[in-house]
Amino acid sequence: MARRVQYLVIGGGSTGTAIAHYISLHEGRAIRLIEKGRVGWGQTGYSTAIIRLHYSNEVVARMALTSFRVFERFEELVGGDCGFRRVGFVVAVPEDLRSGLSRNVAMLRSVGVETWEIGPEELKDLVPQVDVNGIAAAAYEPKSGFADPVSTAQSFAESARRNGAEVAEGESVLKLVAEGGVVTRVLTNRDEYQPDVLIAATGVWTNALFGQAGKLLPLKVLREEIGVFTRPAEFTGDHPVFADLSSDYFFYMRPHGERETYVGSIEPFGHQECQPDDAGATISRETFLSYHERVSRRFPAFLRSPFSPRGWTGLYDVTPDWHPIIGRDTELKNVIWAVGLSGHGFKLAPAIGMAVRDMALGRKPELFEEGFFSEERFLKGEPITTTYGIGVVS
Ligand SMILES: Cc1cc2nc3c(=O)[nH]c(=O)nc-3n(C[C@H](O)[C@H](O)[C@H](O)COP(=O)(O)OP(=O)(O)OC[C@H]3O[C@@H](n4cnc5c(N)ncnc54)[C@H](O)[C@@H]3O)c2cc1C
Repeated sequence: MARRVQYLVIGGGSTGTAIAHYISLHEGRAIRLIEKGRVGWGQTGYSTAIIRLHYSNEVVARMALTSFRVFERFEELVGGDCGFRRVGFVVAVPEDLRSGLSRNVAMLRSVGVETWEIGPEELKDLVPQVDVNGIAAAAYEPKSGFADPVSTAQSFAESARRNGAEVAEGESVLKLVAEGGVVTRVLTNRDEYQPDVLIAATGVWTNALFGQAGKLLPLKVLREEIGVFTRPAEFTGDHPVFADLSSDYFFYMRPHGERETYVGSIEPFGHQECQPDDAGATISRETFLSYHERVSRRFPAFLRSPFSPRGWTGLYDVTPDWHPIIGRDTELKNVIWAVGLSGHGFKLAPAIGMAVRDMALGRKPELFEEGFFSEERFLKGEPITTTYGIGVVS
């Protein structure tokens, strides 16, 4: 006999745990979150967890700002630690993207983001190690930074538990049964459930799971490799998170501790398609060398880094416009999607949690028009447009 559950959340990453947290503030005992592994050990655990506000779409920028305000006061608002570190954020662009950057900065300021445009000389004052060759302008956010993704997910899950939710680790959804346009049964390795509302926060595993119930979303699984570089003695301490949108650079980096920097790619078409369980491998030597070449052209101090290829491989669940799918499914009436976060979803987790809470409780979401992030935008040929058209930094 299937156990009835009012809100069944599948997936214990930053997305699913944030959703469980926000619903639990209203209906704690009515939630069960099911995670096949451990909370935060999916793609969340591979994330560089950068928290920036620079977006070119106003709706997404507002979501990033709403989320940022949660990360800033996490202990007070959620409880526990999210490991937020404020090191600042810089996005640098070449001449052809300069007017787009100025437009973005104006829009961001109009919604309340503390950011401004700086020229190459000011950038050099801010980060003396940078070679500004080819940089026409940059946007600077002094208050942004990065967090600890696993602590964040665990803290959200802990809060949900405190509010009465069941958070089940090591429980795997094996099968979904849909009848009459509704998912009626969710079978796991432990039990069988009948959900009133089924929330999918299953990231790269979404199509593998929902495909069995006849539902496939327009999602690709793309590989993202992160290189770990040791900085030389003259470049220790913090540096701002830095994203370089010049096409012969296309990298981002963030500090890790006193001497290390994580580097990733923002090449729009450079990510290889792969399978949902392909994460975890070390970085390839070829990618590490390519990152090293680009990073040390921009920050010559890296030429004096010891050569020791280190890093890891994570996966992005990517939609055609690199923005998420959030909202009710049109065919499976009790399913709400929170997937397709396209490599930038960690920072949006609190806002996604709030929006999905609103939908699950039958309210209008406050943060965006219902339908804005729906799958139908692709069927209608109306993707969310962006200034740069460069995937993950859009
Ligand atoms: C290398 C890398 C760097 C990134 N850097 C950034 C960044 O700097 N800033 C940023 O904002 N975002 C970044 N992201 C993106 C961000 O980390 C993700 O969008 C976000 O963490 C995804 O969280 P999620 O909860 O949706 O997915 P996941 O963390 O993958 O969680 C999904 C969970 O669902 C569970 N699950 C799946 N199927 C089942 C099943 N059948 N039964 C039970 N459980 C199941 C999985 O075990 C998993 O834990 C990065 C991602 C990667 C890979």
